[in-house]
Amino acid sequence: MLNRRSFLKTSASAIPMAAAMNLLDPSLTLSAQDVSVPPASQAPPRLISLPVRLPPIDPAAEPWQKAIRRVGQSNMTEHDPAVMNIDEWADYWHSAEVDIVFISVTGILAFYPSKVKFHRHGKYLNGRDFFGECVAAAKKRSMRVVARMSPDLNWGDALEAHPEWAMRNRDGSVQFSSEEPRLFKTCMFSTYMDDYVPAIMREINSLYDVDCFYTNGWPPLGSLPDCHCGVCSKLPPAGTPSYWRAFTDRVLDLWQRYDAIAKEKKHDSFFFANSGGNVRGGPNLDRLGKVASWFQADNQGRTYDDSTVWGCSLQGRVCNAVLDGKFATNVTAAYSTGTPGWRNASKNPAEAKMWLNESLASGMRPYYHFVGSEGGFGEDRRWQKVGADYLRWTARHDTHFTARRSVANLGVVIGQSTQLLYPGPATARSRAYMHETTQGIYDALLRGRFAFDFVHEDRLELGQLSKYRALLLPNIAMLSDRQIHQIEDYVQAGGSLMASFETSLYDEDLNRRSNFGLADLLGIHTAGDVIGTNGNPYYARIESPDAAQPHAILQGFINTNWLPGAQNRVPLRPAQSPLLTVVPGFVRYPPELAYPQVSHTSEPAVVLRELGTSRIAYFSGDVERTYWLTGHGDLLRLLHNTIRWITNEERVVSVEGDGFIEMFCWETVPGYAVHLLNYTNPNAHHGWMQETYPLGPQTIRLKLPQGVKAKSVELLQAGKDLPFHIANEVVQFTISRVDDYEVASVTVV
Ligand SMILES: [Zn+2]
Repeated sequence: MLNRRSFLKTSASAIPMAAAMNLLDPSLTLSAQDVSVPPASQAPPRLISLPVRLPPIDPAAEPWQKAIRRVGQSNMTEHDPAVMNIDEWADYWHSAEVDIVFISVTGILAFYPSKVKFHRHGKYLNGRDFFGECVAAAKKRSMRVVARMSPDLNWGDALEAHPEWAMRNRDGSVQFSSEEPRLFKTCMFSTYMDDYVPAIMREINSLYDVDCFYTNGWPPLGSLPDCHCGVCSKLPPAGTPSYWRAFTDRVLDLWQRYDAIAKEKKHDSFFFANSGGNVRGGPNLDRLGKVASWFQADNQGRTYDDSTVWGCSLQGRVCNAVLDGKFATNVTAAYSTGTPGWRNASKNPAEAKMWLNESLASGMRPYYHFVGSEGGFGEDRRWQKVGADYLRWTARHDTHFTARRSVANLGVVIGQSTQLLYPGPATARSRAYMHETTQGIYDALLRGRFAFDFVHEDRLELGQLSKYRALLLPNIAMLSDRQIHQIEDYVQAGGSLMASFETSLYDEDLNRRSNFGLADLLGIHTAGDVIGTNGNPYYARIESPDAAQPHAILQGFINTNWLPGAQNRVPLRPAQSPLLTVVPGFVRYPPELAYPQVSHTSEPAVVLRELGTSRIAYFSGDVERTYWLTGHGDLLRLLHNTIRWITNEERVVSVEGDGFIEMFCWETVPGYAVHLLNYTNPNAHHGWMQETYPLGPQTIRLKLPQGVKAKSVELLQAGKDLPFHIANEVVQFTISRVDDYEVASVTVV
């Protein structure tokens, strides 16, 4: 048997290409037909069978939180004990059919007569047991209770007694809350977390019947702390891979200790914490996923800085990558998120609903949230009917929302360490760099209506990857030797790859390698440092031997010799017969100088290979991010063509119709559910949804596993059964209209 290295070397063969054609053929003349952009001639997708269905589950053997379908929270303010009508609060959440409510214990202000030192009583508490009254009201209505704490801030008297609890700046000064300077930021490496938080948990366990514990405000999301206190100054420098490992160790150590404290009273109680930060996360998500009983994605709504409509779905895909089917929920703020944001005013109903839609579609449980109960149960009560109607609708279809596993056949490596730690290439240093890269590939996958999952870089074992026809590596710069070997094993087993830019050029400690870690597999060799753009970015010259029979990744590019390249590229040594070569960038202004000094090189812009049944494509440019920055349709087409080529046109689900949608397809307890989210909206990437713009017919096709028969197809929003056709085990049906969201549930026997 060939070993990995000999396999890579002996079967390596670049796509054979004849010599370049005459690219400046003067006989070419323009016609109306030439200048119009024809659609790419696409072969119809080849539907492959869905995998053999999972064995039935015994709900009684599942942890109790798996049965939670809806989560509610009125986030409590210091003033609420003076104004909130507890019965009205409890009646509302009960009427919305939520299974569990969050009730504030906190750690900043006690909502009960706490005796823990420095757990300051709220100034409207007046000795009352507000927390206990709320717990009793919830339990009376058969709702479970999460005891919610906030360990991230405390007051001056605590600071005076425990100066070691504070986060410190480099000059030794205390870090304070930017909005309330009387509150200092507590350091997660200090004894505040070892002593103070456990004392509150034990006090709650001694006094009340709660179902689990949660901390808000810790650990941080999507970024790492920067503290220079006595403990932290002995840790590796903030923002480095070594610091990230120490940070994850501390988070998981505290998490497991708090979990043990939660279980001191009830064996099925547990602890969980604020999570989210989507692809960046905070702690290592692979490790967190193995420990967490409940993943609380605190991704409450769109902001000006992060305004893409799919923010919640993207988070759901991250959860699916690391949770092995465990419980996940995402907080939908019914209040106005963003900057500026109003914590006590309702947001647009269409926007709030879309966030709930995305929670459900991506396999998470809907969680509805408002802040404060002025005037009894809110001065602004418009959010209440929106949420209650929505949650009650989901309750009618709970069985169809039992997402057991995604059936996607594309895996997109998220590269959490790259997302958190890699600063971007020297030519484009920016914290937004990887964010833009992720948005670019996400947008492209949605527009191509591909079924895809996210894959964590620490979960690349062959068993985890075998369901995927192809893996995408959008500038996954940091990969360890082990991860590289796992990707090589995946290809050796028949998987395909698409990679770009600095993928594998750095190890897990962010040390730059002399050559790509995946050089052998991708058939590439770096020829120098990243080249950026000073004016006109580089072009990619088509080296096609036969314009009438272009390679599959060049389908639809007619009447042009070159394509846009990307903003940045890694220069490569020449490869054998490249399909696209680099025309180096040049001056953009003045236009008199806007022409290439060098029109033809041997530097590849893309390298394609076929190894057995694997197809491999590597782009030397940051094509996904450049697509996101520009929206250039050529880059989109190139990405779509390439994904279709590496997957050999295989699909597990086909959704055909007009419009910009996000699609999920799940194996469920009764069968399968195809979720369609309608993003065809002028507010898809700015501001909030004001209204929906319905889509016309969407035709869905799925090939059922052998021996599985479709019994019915039901539309959960429209509330009706659909006729369907079956031919050669392919189930086909058409949804005539999609408003903001539709779910087609196929029940099988
Ligand atoms: Zn510290």
